[in-house]
Amino acid sequence: MRKEKEERKEMTLHGQDRKEERKAMTLFKSEDEMAKFMEILMELSFSSYMEYKKRLTDPHAFRLPNFGNSCYVNASLQCLFTAESFCGELSYLLDNSVHKLEDTFLRCFVELSRLRKSSEVQGDISKDSLLLALIESATDINPEFTINEQNDAHEFLCHCLTQMEESGRWLGWQEDLDPRCPVKANFKFKMRNIITCSSCGSQQNNKVEVFNHISLPLVHDSVDQCLYDIVNNPKVLESKCKVCGVECANSRWTFHTLPRFLILQLNRFKVTEYYTVVKLDIPVEIKPELQINCLAQSDTSGIGHYLSDCSSHIPHQWMTYNDELVTLTTETDVLKMRSSSAYVLLYESVSTG
Ligand SMILES: [Zn+2]
Repeated sequence: MRKEKEERKEMTLHGQDRKEERKAMTLFKSEDEMAKFMEILMELSFSSYMEYKKRLTDPHAFRLPNFGNSCYVNASLQCLFTAESFCGELSYLLDNSVHKLEDTFLRCFVELSRLRKSSEVQGDISKDSLLLALIESATDINPEFTINEQNDAHEFLCHCLTQMEESGRWLGWQEDLDPRCPVKANFKFKMRNIITCSSCGSQQNNKVEVFNHISLPLVHDSVDQCLYDIVNNPKVLESKCKVCGVECANSRWTFHTLPRFLILQLNRFKVTEYYTVVKLDIPVEIKPELQINCLAQSDTSGIGHYLSDCSSHIPHQWMTYNDELVTLTTETDVLKMRSSSAYVLLYESVSTG
């Protein structure tokens, strides 16, 4: 009984489908016209499919599997792999170090970066197991980074740098002497916090702090203005002046040193009045180049899906790494399409003569 009923139901649905088909066909004056339209439609979808296929890169493109919500890991790694001189320095130092248990994360990262660089067909098995071992090693330090948990790509990126730095410490890498830690040499930079009394103008604090990224509140419509704001626009702050006793001062930051690779995090999260976090899709203009003034002093020393747009020097091209889907893109497209969604930007310093 039940079955019959179900069958009848299905049939009526089909009937409805056919009715709709007839309705669509009445839009055309003749069956010939309909056939011609279908032909054009087929051609169009075929050409866009071919266009899509063209954008898929060769089999050597470095695809990373998603083990379950691990897109943030893949996007962070692909971003770091584009810092080729950094990967090269790590690779060289690691070849000249004695293997230690504490350097698993570092070794997995370097082996993956080597696989990415090699033009040979990559062994998927070794790539997958290296990626799994890297995630496991990160989980040992921070259990949040376990597979199937959604995490923040920027947090993972910073974790990678910290864990690599930690591994380097076990291997005897140093801050200013050889063998110099590549994390420090490539990503770390110093900023000076200048606090000026609003009343008498005396400077109270000239503390120099070390960073590996800058978090930018999206208060302007372009990335360089947001960065300019952090550096140049003083913020009012309650701080008691040692000279005149007034409790109002201005705080501003200046670059003391610049890194080779600057990580900018666009702060796209806002806490609402109900204490929930919402993502901001504010479009911001992303500049392909940033001009940063560095005032060296006398003592100079989400939630969602993540993918990574990366550029390479030779050949000069842009790729979008979306886990296992790797497609060709252009700088123009990246700057235009990511203005409302870009979250982490990696800039490389260039010599200006
Ligand atoms: Zn004062």
